[in-house]
Amino acid sequence: MNRLHEVPADADIVTVRGLSKSYGDRVAVDHLDLDVAAGEVLGLIGANGAGKTTTVECIQGLRRPDAGTVRVLGLDPVRDADRVRQLVGSQLQSSALPDRLRVSEAIELFSTRRAKDADGLVERFGLSTKLTSHFGSMSGGEQQRLFLVLALLNQPRLVILDELTQGLDPAARREVWASVAQLRDAGTTVLLVTHELDEAEVLCDRVVAIRSGRVLDAGTPAELVARHAGIATTRFGVHTADPAPIVRELLGVRGVHDVTAAPGGSSTQITVRGERSSIAHVGAWLADRGDIPADLRVDVPDLEAALLTLLDGPDVLEPATSVLTGAHR
Ligand code: ATP
Repeated sequence: MNRLHEVPADADIVTVRGLSKSYGDRVAVDHLDLDVAAGEVLGLIGANGAGKTTTVECIQGLRRPDAGTVRVLGLDPVRDADRVRQLVGSQLQSSALPDRLRVSEAIELFSTRRAKDADGLVERFGLSTKLTSHFGSMSGGEQQRLFLVLALLNQPRLVILDELTQGLDPAARREVWASVAQLRDAGTTVLLVTHELDEAEVLCDRVVAIRSGRVLDAGTPAELVARHAGIATTRFGVHTADPAPIVRELLGVRGVHDVTAAPGGSSTQITVRGERSSIAHVGAWLADRGDIPADLRVDVPDLEAALLTLLDGPDVLEPATSVLTGAHR
């Protein structure tokens, strides 16, 4: 029997508890907890130097933790390094492939006996016409899509993508995002390391935000938005010099944040803040009044706003363990 099949299909993909790792005096990872559930795209988010790569290297068995436990499909990545290597697909760094290597040669080089349907993968990631191209002649987006093909080639149970779109132009980033979205839709388990907040917003089912090697908070994008950026802002102008009756009426529905009379006194800017649903209430109230302002503007908080607040804010010192284990999709 193939020993790989002994790994239970429903095992948690990654479980990290109390992981610590220092380089000399420099603490890179500090009592970090992390779970990756089967079928989810988990984003590990933090600024440069936050400890993301060190964490992922411990998960891959490339570094030995100073303290804590790491399990990948129930295996210890240091002790069971060979088996873990077979089960985890990692994205390469650009420098890992020589410029003269052709796409078909790279695929041959990275195929193990577990490799399956390379042609299908090449087609899925739009590289069918590039099989004879040299790596060095491909665009940044094409190179990253080749890395995705190589990471998936040997049917991994977990794919680790580290700074996937760094240095790509906006169009190429979107190409690569579409490829990762395909993985997500196919139920592939992905650990995505990034400091790009918009990337996390587009791709992640769940996010773990870290700073100085510690978890600040973790949850689904909706949970993080609710906890750290739950307020929507709606601004609009009304044609009146006396906003008092309007404000009184609006106050009956929700809070009015700001009222500013325009120069000349003919119109007034009103800013309303509240939960996301407040936008609908304001819209309905304005429609009722028959006064549809041309300058209605709405700022809805998103994951990017939540992560900015979180990563730039004070430490959340409550242990975040309780919110780490995410729902399986
Ligand atoms: P980046 O986004 O810049 O890659 P990161 O979040 O991945 O950062 P790490 O690379 O894990 O962070 O680094 C965490 C800390 O450990 C940083 O302060 C870094 O300077 C330090 N560090 C990382 N690798 C080493 C090393 N081999 N020797 C000494 N210090 C290191």
